[in-house]
Amino acid sequence: MTTAAPPDNHAARQHARYDAVVAGGGPAGAAAALTLARAGRTVLLADAGSGPPKTGESLVPAARLLLQDLGVDIRSLDADHRQCHATLSAWGSPQLHCTDFLTDPHGHGWHLDRPVFDRLLRTRAAADGVRVAERTTVSHPVPQPDSGWQVTLRADGTERTVRCRWLVDTTGRRASLAARCGARHRRYDKLIAVHLRLAHDTSDIEQASLVESVPDGWWYTAPHSPAHRLVTYFTDTDLSPPGLRTTRTFLDRLATTRHTAERARGRQALAGAAPRRCAAHTARLEPPAGEGWIAAGDAAIALDPLSSQGVLTALYSGLCAGQAVEALLRGEADALDTYTAQLGETFEAYAYGHREIHVHEDRWSDRPFWQRRRSPLALNAP
Ligand SMILES: Cc1cc2nc3c(=O)[nH]c(=O)nc-3n(C[C@H](O)[C@H](O)[C@H](O)COP(=O)(O)OP(=O)(O)OC[C@H]3O[C@@H](n4cnc5c(N)ncnc54)[C@H](O)[C@@H]3O)c2cc1C
Repeated sequence: MTTAAPPDNHAARQHARYDAVVAGGGPAGAAAALTLARAGRTVLLADAGSGPPKTGESLVPAARLLLQDLGVDIRSLDADHRQCHATLSAWGSPQLHCTDFLTDPHGHGWHLDRPVFDRLLRTRAAADGVRVAERTTVSHPVPQPDSGWQVTLRADGTERTVRCRWLVDTTGRRASLAARCGARHRRYDKLIAVHLRLAHDTSDIEQASLVESVPDGWWYTAPHSPAHRLVTYFTDTDLSPPGLRTTRTFLDRLATTRHTAERARGRQALAGAAPRRCAAHTARLEPPAGEGWIAAGDAAIALDPLSSQGVLTALYSGLCAGQAVEALLRGEADALDTYTAQLGETFEAYAYGHREIHVHEDRWSDRPFWQRRRSPLALNAP
């Protein structure tokens, strides 16, 4: 289960005490662990390898800077992922508009193959001294009398405990450890995603993502590695048509679109693939940190995928969380306030953009999906 480790033995591991245990090896966890290890801290990064299947996301060009700061080799990213050179959108009108990354000072973006991308980050972390535990679930945080935590690690049917001074929750939308520490995930809407992978077509050389708004939501499609095209319908839970999780109903609904359907024409669903549903709502953890623990990535703030900022924000908040823990370990008591303020600013900027982009689509302003998004983000009962 451990991919990189200084020499040790079972007894030593049984009583290991780390400066930080990072639970969750997605982009936020890897960024937090890397930041701490590079500051000379002892870090265990455990990834359960569970959760909703990651089918592929588009990573914006601006992520290049953060990745370089984290020491990630951009050439590896380029070698293993399709480049993304533009966003096409039919939004506010049926016409397709192109936002070309040619004018972006950071260059092109990427269509991510998430397992490959996450592995690249964790390999980087291991090379920088992080102990990486694959297929390992962190649970049962127990506060210790001398401060810090004892947590349980479960892997391959066995359990052991380790201790740490700080616990970093990067477990994704469920924020499973922060929830045990008393934090609450507050939801702002009921957005869900239903996605289907379509078979590859060698004539498909498009290097762009496409979004297309429709009366009850919007569609996303992009080519992704390994060779398939991802098609996703976003709508609210209560507006989702019955049977959307059957391939037939999904494809029928897809056929009512214009640009998305054009890209899907003539393709079969990937062998064995069926439409899958997952949560895509905006959410925020309150509070995002407390005594001896801190949350980052989706665990702290989960964004509407329309923003295309989820992975970037996960990297950024993971890096900030790592810096905050490092400052706290040095005795800088106000580092948690600084971190909370950084997250607050990120969320406010996102919330402003979220409303602006939805107001821009005014063809169906009488439909619930669009009505709900015309006013500023407000807490919604789950
Ligand atoms: C449908 C959809 C489309 C999206 N499209 C985009 C897009 O195009 N561009 C973009 O930038 N963002 C997109 N996002 C958002 C993006 O996927 C997330 O913001 C990003 O994955 C968050 O990274 P993370 O590291 O916080 O969490 P995650 O990527 O969710 O990683 C959490 C990790 O923690 C592990 N884990 C969970 N519990 C435990 C535990 N107890 N112990 C140990 N490990 C644990 C899981 O196995 C997982 O590997 C999309 C999201 C959705 C739902």
